[in-house]
Amino acid sequence: YIQKSERELVVNMIKNLKINELKSLPICVDEKVSVYDAIVTMFLEDVGSLYVLQENYLAGVVSRKDFLKAAIGDADMKNMPVGIIMTRMPNIVVIHPNESVYAAAKKIIDHQIDALPVVEDIVRDGVINYKVIGRISKTNITKVFTNLEIGGE
Ligand code: ADP
Repeated sequence: YIQKSERELVVNMIKNLKINELKSLPICVDEKVSVYDAIVTMFLEDVGSLYVLQENYLAGVVSRKDFLKAAIGDADMKNMPVGIIMTRMPNIVVIHPNESVYAAAKKIIDHQIDALPVVEDIVRDGVINYKVIGRISKTNITKVFTNLEIGGE
């Protein structure tokens, strides 16, 4: 067992690690893009989810499962816009760049999703819009542990 002081060091390290230091580039598509083109983008960019924009602000998320659902639903993928099948706002779980990696891990587990869009709030006509500035996934969070080189060989 590790000592309490050692545990506190690790906990503080993880709680002080900010999203901004760990985030990846987000891959975004416009809501009018076809389901087919969005699938191609997902393959080319090697990600598991895309952020869908309406007038450059976050409108939704589309992931592998959403595409599988569209496939078994017999959708016309070349003509159907991705906006039809995405999970949409306000049901999108987001994180801000100054929040901790711990907060992101908690949201990912609590909502059973693979990644979160990192956003900046833009207030327009008294309404908050999200500008997508990054993406934090289970992979980014796993990197915290490999960067520690625990028992590194
Ligand atoms: P996968 O489809 O590869 O299992 P996820 O577990 O991330 O990927 O997605 C599962 C479902 O949750 C999908 O319907 C997706 O649209 C939705 N989803 C993904 N990310 C988010 C998020 N940040 N907020 C809300 N819903 C999300």
